Amino acid sequence: MASTMSAKRDYYEILGVSKGASADEIKKAYRKVAMQFHPDRNPGDHTAEEKFKEAAEAYEILSDADKRAQYDRFGHNAFGQGRGGGGFSGGMNMEDIFSQFGDIFGDDMFGSFFSGGSHGRSSGRSRGVRGTNLRVRIKVNFEEIAKGTTKTIKVKKYIKCDTCNGSGAKDKNSSQTCRTCGGNGQVRRVQNTFLGQMQTVTTCPDCNGEGTVITNKCNVCKGEGRVYGEEMVTLEIPAGVQEGMQLSMGGKGNMGERGGGSGDLIILIEEEAHPFLHREGLNVAFDLYISFTDAVFGTQTEVPTIDGRAKIKIPVGTQSGKIFRLKGKGFPAINSREKGDQLIQVNVWTPQAVSESEKITLESLQDSENFKPKPDKNDKTFWEKIKETFS
Ligand SMILES: [Zn+2]
Ligand SMILES: [Zn+2]
Repeated sequence: MASTMSAKRDYYEILGVSKGASADEIKKAYRKVAMQFHPDRNPGDHTAEEKFKEAAEAYEILSDADKRAQYDRFGHNAFGQGRGGGGFSGGMNMEDIFSQFGDIFGDDMFGSFFSGGSHGRSSGRSRGVRGTNLRVRIKVNFEEIAKGTTKTIKVKKYIKCDTCNGSGAKDKNSSQTCRTCGGNGQVRRVQNTFLGQMQTVTTCPDCNGEGTVITNKCNVCKGEGRVYGEEMVTLEIPAGVQEGMQLSMGGKGNMGERGGGSGDLIILIEEEAHPFLHREGLNVAFDLYISFTDAVFGTQTEVPTIDGRAKIKIPVGTQSGKIFRLKGKGFPAINSREKGDQLIQVNVWTPQAVSESEKITLESLQDSENFKPKPDKNDKTFWEKIKETFS
């Protein structure tokens, strides 16, 4: 040990605190460093292990007023000379370090940190067993997606047993503190590891970590603290949801056993098909059919949108396949101000049958120069339009 003394780092520096740091600041700083270099978090990392030990040593000295005073006066020499001197000869083994943890971190250190399988709750004790998540499918139509909606539905699920108020016990005298863990909900085990002995904490097997055992069960729920029933749940569906999207409502799923808290309600969104409109991402597409004469003379018409009807103008000489765009008339995005457009594709209706007189009229136009197709460069091809519209 003596040979490494000179290379020792300053204890304050190790913990990252100033020389005037209070006892509380030192404790907090140590906690931070110890967590960072904890062997459970850095398996097989020897540098981390050294830093972990170094920090423990620094804390050992600085947390003790007498030792700290000696260290302030004499530095590392205060403890290096003579074994009996400062009561500390440098270098701690892991057992010392872990036994130190109890009063620094409290029990939660073990619960949250060691892989002992406990719940990580500060008391160690956990009430009951958390309920499971529930899934429901909700159908929404285009209008509801556009504006957002509220739906109240009946959900069949586990709810609290009113008779025992969720405790599962027949009455107040029907439960007692678990003898195995003394009500703690956890049992400790000492394990030998390559770093020395490590204490792990596991959930008490006799009470499932609840700390109490029921001696006389509630008749209605048979000790579960919950019964199968139903509850009306109001769902807030935001604007912009989409097919397959899942919304989660915390605590609205199945109630757990003996007050263990509820699971979540997962809402799976299903889009109802619209008779005329269909979705293309945030855009809404609509096929508009107009007559040949309307295409030639132009007209005004109405189209359905996801939010009522809209008037559009068909200009003189509109070609079949032309796409009109109603800006901002598409779907809203769920978490932004972005909005899609409505795209209206014009289809010029070709008569499927004509009367004798119509036939004569049309035949008279057959050789007319105006009726011969003359697409110019501005008439984009189908593929160009598709690319432009959906890019
Ligand atoms: Zn009950
Ligand atoms: Zn127990």
